Amino acid sequence: MEECKKIWDILLLGISNNISTVSYDMWFKNLEPLTITYNKLIIVANLKSAKNTINKNYRKIILDEIKKLNTYVDDYLIITPDEIPIYQDKIDEIKKEEASSTNLNMFDSNFTFEMFVVGSSNQIAFAAAKAVAKQPGTLHNPLFIYGGVGLGKTHIMHAIGNEIIKNNKKAKIIYCTTEQFVNDFIDSIRNSKDNEQNRKFREKYRNVDVLMLDDIQFLAGKIGTQEALFHTFNDLYQFKKQIVISSDKHPRELTFLEERLQSRFSSGLTVDISLPDLETRIAILQKKAFYKNVNLPINVIYFIAEKFDKNIRELEGALQKVIFFCQLKGVQPDNIDIIKEALKDDIDVSSHILSLDSIVDATCSYFNIKKQEVIGKKKLKQIVQARQIAIYLINDLLGVPLATIGSYFGGRDHTTIIYARDKIEELAKTDNLVATQIKDIKNMIQKR
Ligand code: ADP
Ligand code: MG
Repeated sequence: MEECKKIWDILLLGISNNISTVSYDMWFKNLEPLTITYNKLIIVANLKSAKNTINKNYRKIILDEIKKLNTYVDDYLIITPDEIPIYQDKIDEIKKEEASSTNLNMFDSNFTFEMFVVGSSNQIAFAAAKAVAKQPGTLHNPLFIYGGVGLGKTHIMHAIGNEIIKNNKKAKIIYCTTEQFVNDFIDSIRNSKDNEQNRKFREKYRNVDVLMLDDIQFLAGKIGTQEALFHTFNDLYQFKKQIVISSDKHPRELTFLEERLQSRFSSGLTVDISLPDLETRIAILQKKAFYKNVNLPINVIYFIAEKFDKNIRELEGALQKVIFFCQLKGVQPDNIDIIKEALKDDIDVSSHILSLDSIVDATCSYFNIKKQEVIGKKKLKQIVQARQIAIYLINDLLGVPLATIGSYFGGRDHTTIIYARDKIEELAKTDNLVATQIKDIKNMIQKR
């Protein structure tokens, strides 16, 4: 019954966000989840009055939360203790079923295709995952996704799960870490009599439409489990059941694997996720900030994206830290000094940090113009040229996406940025003054 408790706990959290503490304590706190039957979560209330009140006043809220969960559960039923025996048969039946197959169709609702930012580092993996989710078992089997830590492998696997379940609530999907798989295998051997060996294990893993194994590198040295996986693989494959595997390396580099397993893994489609470029990191931060309802100016986004380039989990962690820090201090996350303070344990803030701000500041002080004016809309010739030089320098020194530069300069579009950049580039070749100015400002920036 683990599963129904887990679902109920998540539901409770959602419900508590929607109603007052008083009502929550009065009506919800003492409810106990009993079981799930026919996609219905059965909950026990000690008092009939609680049952009636909840059905009358909170049914919609509960159903909304159930929907958000995105599991196979689609309704609930509140009963009183005297009604439990009616469900006892059903509970026994479910327990029996659970013993042979613990299929927990539950995926992290944050890990969807919609929440996944696509860039050059992951677009092939993304497209392959979408194709697999659309037609499991037919196109790419197995789908093998590999890449470094924190780059989105688990996210993509959950997204596949979420998508398949969205289209087919009854789909039987097992997602598990390779460690869980190994432990399950070991348990199955330990707990069964000789002739029963592996039976339970086999039923569980071969009786599915989709099997996803995360972090297959943990199979290193697990010869028995490798053998079991080989047979599982063949069974599923033969019946056109989808297999999705993730790993930190390409199958050919998984030299600890039995050769036959290695070759099975490479027999479908193998895709990699590599380090995200700056543009993708910026887009990820923007998306996550948006969903957290936090407004971060582009120079702050850029600053964080520039610093955390190896691991998206760390990139997100930095964002979380900044938000938390600013809430604590009661300040807005709107300038680089605050961000540096928030992240002082994670980045080297003493080293000179080249940023959009530092380049624009240097340009402004060189031309003795206010920052507001350079970033703003004024069309005075002198200001326009300073602005264009700043844009040129940023492009030259930082390699920031054009759209980012555009939004930093008050929401200009990328064609304006290209125009400014190209114009100064040309001028620098023919106009000595401009060439000198550029050199001087670069010097200033470097010395700061
Ligand atoms: P891995 O399994 O490869 O170690 P995860 O899938 O756990 O990495 O990803 C780490 C974190 O980074 C997760 O919170 C995930 O949502 C986020 N993440 C990774 N790639 C992306 C992406 N392309 N778009 C949005 N978030 C991402
Ligand atoms: Mg992972």
